[in-house]
Amino acid sequence: MLNEFTQEPRIAYFSMEIAIRNEIPTYSGGLGVLAGDSVRSAADLELPLVAVSLASRAGYFHQEIDSQGRQVEHPDTWDPSRWATRLGAKIAVPIEGREVWIGGWLYLLKGHMNGQEPIILLDTDLEENRKEDREITHFLYGGDPTYRLKQEMVLGIGGVRMLHALGFEIRKYHLNEGHSALLGLELLRRYAYPSEEVRAGESPYDIPRVRGLCNFTTHTPVEAGHDQFPYDLVGRVLGEFIDPPTLRSLAGQDRLNMTRLALNLSEHINGVAQRHAEISRKMYPGYRVDAVTNGVHPFTWTDPAFRALYDRSMPGWCHEPGILVRVDQIPDGEIWEAHLRAKSQLVEKVRTLGGGTFDPALPILGFARRMTAYKRPDLLFSDLERLTSIARRHPFQLVLAGKAHPRDDGGKRFIEALHQHKRSLTGIIPIAYLPNYNMEIALAMVAGCDLWLNTPLRPLEASGTSGMKAAFNGVPSLSVLDGWWIEGCIEGVTGWAIGEAAESANGKDAASLYSKLEGIVLPLYHENRSGWIAVMKGAIGKNASYFNSHRMMRGYTTEAYLR
Ligand SMILES: *Cc1c(COP(=O)(O)O)cnc(C)c1O
Repeated sequence: MLNEFTQEPRIAYFSMEIAIRNEIPTYSGGLGVLAGDSVRSAADLELPLVAVSLASRAGYFHQEIDSQGRQVEHPDTWDPSRWATRLGAKIAVPIEGREVWIGGWLYLLKGHMNGQEPIILLDTDLEENRKEDREITHFLYGGDPTYRLKQEMVLGIGGVRMLHALGFEIRKYHLNEGHSALLGLELLRRYAYPSEEVRAGESPYDIPRVRGLCNFTTHTPVEAGHDQFPYDLVGRVLGEFIDPPTLRSLAGQDRLNMTRLALNLSEHINGVAQRHAEISRKMYPGYRVDAVTNGVHPFTWTDPAFRALYDRSMPGWCHEPGILVRVDQIPDGEIWEAHLRAKSQLVEKVRTLGGGTFDPALPILGFARRMTAYKRPDLLFSDLERLTSIARRHPFQLVLAGKAHPRDDGGKRFIEALHQHKRSLTGIIPIAYLPNYNMEIALAMVAGCDLWLNTPLRPLEASGTSGMKAAFNGVPSLSVLDGWWIEGCIEGVTGWAIGEAAESANGKDAASLYSKLEGIVLPLYHENRSGWIAVMKGAIGKNASYFNSHRMMRGYTTEAYLR
C-alpha cells in the first residue's frame, strides 16, 4: 500500500492538526488549514512528502449557537475507516511507564492534478490499550496538560517510530509549530554515540546531526502561547526518555518548553510572515529566524465560478498561480459576473442557515475567525451610533462566523456580544452569524462577500490566511496592518489598511475603520463600480499571485528542505 511512497526519501511534515477535507474534523483553525494547504500544494508540485498528525476521532468540536447567542459544543466524531486505510504497522511508546500502542490510518491526499501525498493519522484507540490511553488521540486540543503531553508524545515520538516502521526514509522533518518537538528527542536517541566514545561531561547525542534534519515553523508571536510542561509532570509521563541534563539544556531549565526544544533542535527556523519573523528574532535572541510568508491553496480556496474564469483566461494558474498577474486582461464584466455567482451562493447559504434574507445588490462585509480577544471581533461595534449613521448613508450587510476554544470564556463572550449587536441593529444592518465555521463555510464566505474585514491587535496576528483566500476570489481586505497584510496591502490598489502604519497605536483603529468605511470603501462600492472592480483585480493580480501555498512550498523547498 505504501510501496510507491517509500522508494525515495521524503519530507516528514508534522502537525498537531491538519485540515484534510471538510468532512474530516481534524483541525481547529488556521494552523490546520495551513497544514492541509501545504500538503495539497506538495501534491500539486509533486514534492516527496509524508504528513503526520493525530486521528482526533472526536474532532475539535461541532458548534451550535443557542437562542441566546451562546456557543454550545458537541463532539464531532468521525469514522477514519470511511476515508482512510488502516496501517499494517503498530508501534509502542512508553507513557507513564507503560507501553501505549499506536496504530494509524493512511489517508491518500489526491491533488486535482497528478500528484498525491500520504497522510498518516496516528491512533491509540486500539484494543491493546487501556481505556484512558485509547482516548489520547480523541480530542484535538482537549484535556489538561497531562493529556496534552501524552498527545504530543504520540505525535512526536510515535510519529517518528511509525514512519520508521512503515519503511519511510526521511530527508527532513518539518515541525509545523512546536507540538511535535518531542520528535527531536526520538531522533537524539537514534543518533546517540556509542557509550564508550562519550567522554565525561559531553553530550551522548549527535545534536548537530539531529539539527541538520529538522526545520521548525513557529506561528505564535507571544511567549504565553507556547506549550510548557513542568518537569515533575514530564518525569511522570515521559520518564527519563533522554538524559535529564541534555533535556534541560535543550528545552529549558525550569520547564519543558516545546518552542525552545524545537528552536534548539532545528537548523532552519522560520516565522510565517516578514513581520512575524522580525518579532520572533526579538523573542529568541541568538537564533536565526527566516521568514516564509504563508499562502493558501489556489484550487481549494477559489470559487467554481472564478476557477472557470481563470481556466478560460489564464490556463495553468492552478499550477503556477503567479500567472494571475495577468488578470487585467479579463473584462470587468466577467469578473463581476463570477463574483455575483459566488455572492448568490453565500446569500443562499445565509438563508438556509437561518440568517435571513440578504440583498445581493448591497455590499456584504465578512468577518470569520477564531473568536478570541486578540482578533477583536467587536472592533466594528465599538461605536454603534457611528456605525448606524454609516449604514444609513451607505447601506451594507454583515456575515460573521467563528468558534471560540471551549476553555476560552472571553472568546465565548464575544459570540454572545455579537449576537446582542445583531439584535440591536435589526432594521439597520442585516447581520448573520453562521454557526460551525469550517472549510466549507469559509470558502462560501471568502468568495461571496464583497469585503473581508480583519481587525487583530498588533502584532499578534502572525500571518492570517483568510484574507488570502478572499484575494483568490477578487475580494479585497480592509485590515489592520499586521501579519501578511503588511506585505499584501497597497492602499486603494489591493484593498485598504486600518490604522495608518504597522507601528501606529492600536487605540485608534476603530476610528480609522469607520473613516475608511465611510469615506472611501463604501462610497467606492456604491458609486464607482469600475473603480471597485479595479481593486478586485488588484487583489487577484497582486495578492493571490503571491500569497499562495505553491510559492510557500517552493520557498520551503529552496530555503529549508534542500539545505
Ligand atoms: C482559513 C481558515 C482559518 C484561518 O483564518 P485566519 O484569517 O488566519 O484567522 C480558520 N478557520 C477556517 C475554517 C479557515 O478556513
